Amino acid sequence: MSDCIFCKMIDGEIKPDIVLETDSVLAFHDSNPQAPTHVLIIPKQHIPTMNDLEPEDVRLMGDLSLAARKVAEREGVSGNFRTTINCGRDGGQLVFHLHMHLLGWPSD
Ligand code: IMP
Repeated sequence: MSDCIFCKMIDGEIKPDIVLETDSVLAFHDSNPQAPTHVLIIPKQHIPTMNDLEPEDVRLMGDLSLAARKVAEREGVSGNFRTTINCGRDGGQLVFHLHMHLLGWPSD
């Protein structure tokens, strides 16, 4: 999608602060962090919202979850993190390319 900011990151047109990249997923630091660690994990495939998921996307959603686990390890927040996917404007979604927020806190 030419006007999608996250697709521009996947295409390399915009350079995010990347934490993890796989064949199917890109993870990068959120530019407006809501926790000490705030990473967005996105599929490389453009899917606007959770409402657009199809049965064949099950594997991709698993890839997002596994990426979240790896991101938490890399960021040192494995014991203290939360993931969220906002869906729709009233659900708090501002960017219409499916993404998982990973919010993490360091251990005491
Ligand atoms: P949403 O509200 O669930 O759609 O979350 C969108 C997130 O994207 C917000 O937390 C924004 O701070 C983040 N965001 C928007 N533009 C950029 C960017 O250029 N780099 C990194 N994060 C961004």
